[in-house]
Amino acid sequence: MAESTINKLFKKTKESSLLERANSIFVGGVNSPVRSMRSIGMKPLIIQKGKGSRVWNVEDKSYIDHVLSFGAMILGHDHLSVEHAIKEASERGWHFGMTTPAEIELAETIKRAIPFIEKIRFVNSGTEAVMGAVRLARGFTGRKKIVKFKHSYHGHADYLLVEGGSGLATLKIPLSKGVPEEFYEQTIIAEYGDQENIETIFKKNGEDIAAIIVEPVGGNYGVVPPNEKYLNYLRQITKQNQSLLIFDEVITGFRFGFGAVADLFGIKPDLICLGKIIGGGLPIGAFGGSDGIMQDLAPLGDVYQASTFAGNPIVMAAGKATLQELELIKGNYGSLTRYVHEITESLEEVCIEVGIGVNISRYRSMFSIKFEDQDMFPKFYKYLLEQGVLLAPSEYEANFISFAHSKEDIEETKEAILKAIKML
Ligand SMILES: *Cc1c(COP(=O)(O)O)cnc(C)c1O
Repeated sequence: MAESTINKLFKKTKESSLLERANSIFVGGVNSPVRSMRSIGMKPLIIQKGKGSRVWNVEDKSYIDHVLSFGAMILGHDHLSVEHAIKEASERGWHFGMTTPAEIELAETIKRAIPFIEKIRFVNSGTEAVMGAVRLARGFTGRKKIVKFKHSYHGHADYLLVEGGSGLATLKIPLSKGVPEEFYEQTIIAEYGDQENIETIFKKNGEDIAAIIVEPVGGNYGVVPPNEKYLNYLRQITKQNQSLLIFDEVITGFRFGFGAVADLFGIKPDLICLGKIIGGGLPIGAFGGSDGIMQDLAPLGDVYQASTFAGNPIVMAAGKATLQELELIKGNYGSLTRYVHEITESLEEVCIEVGIGVNISRYRSMFSIKFEDQDMFPKFYKYLLEQGVLLAPSEYEANFISFAHSKEDIEETKEAILKAIKML
């Protein structure tokens, strides 16, 4: 019997049979934990296509997408110029394990936007970017200790998973099993915004601290708006102690303008980590900084870092097309901020009206929603999904707006939110 006939006989939808297959082959049905939607009592979505601000599941139901691949799809889905770039690049073959013109072009485009990057290295994910930057910081300073902030996420490297933000927070895992204590002995956890705390840490460990790593705008414990004064203070104290300052801008790079938060605030970190947006939706990471530090990397220096697929020409082409587009429309970033304000203000209003306690966090084109009553979020989420609005499946994850979101999309999101709140 054909598969479709079997499915009809048992009244199985395409979605439910795919979910069954996903569950039998992937742990929790997924390849990355947040996608599982377990914490809100749901099954993973199976998405078959995306266009502009929307994605479609395998039953052809469409959703206005505020996940946007955790911020990566800032131009929306299937953007024409990115699609052309990918197609065109693929006609010349797709990987050589050698330098190609495309990676030089993307690197130069990034440098144009973030001028303090004198040298850059491409890798395949944000996690790898951070791992490379941290190893380089340790190699350059000859020191062991790394300071990270509670609840910030810097990828899944062993020594950075302590108090690791959204993914772990959602599953209520304080520390991943499988990471021996010895692996994070050199990691110091600090409280974001607390100067005294950092001063104490430096008094105790100053000579041993290789770097402070920070998300200049927090995107992994809900949205944590930046504290510019504090970031300046971090710049100052790291300099005083000959430690490096690493900005993890994997989410924030190119999210608020054609460039990095570092430039926005005029703070020059020693190293910057990039990812997500700069690959146009294909797997990428990068880290960069001044010549003086970067030249400690192999092949010039003794800090080893390598990868087979670094600088893949298709990824580079997608990244370059995305950044070129962002450079053209950089005057319009403000509209994304306005849309976030519209959505969050209307949510705030209705919550006050019906007496629901909610904490909304936002910064420019990112926002997160946390209800005072923990049981509310899963219900709220489901009601929104039924109405075709897709938010990040955890209160600890950020939501995003893309350049493909229209006024109508924002209206629809607002309407759906109003209805959902009234149904709570
Ligand atoms: C997503 C993210 C990472 C990890 O990037 P991957 O590509 O998922 O490995 C690192 N740091 C921050 C701030 C991130 O948001």
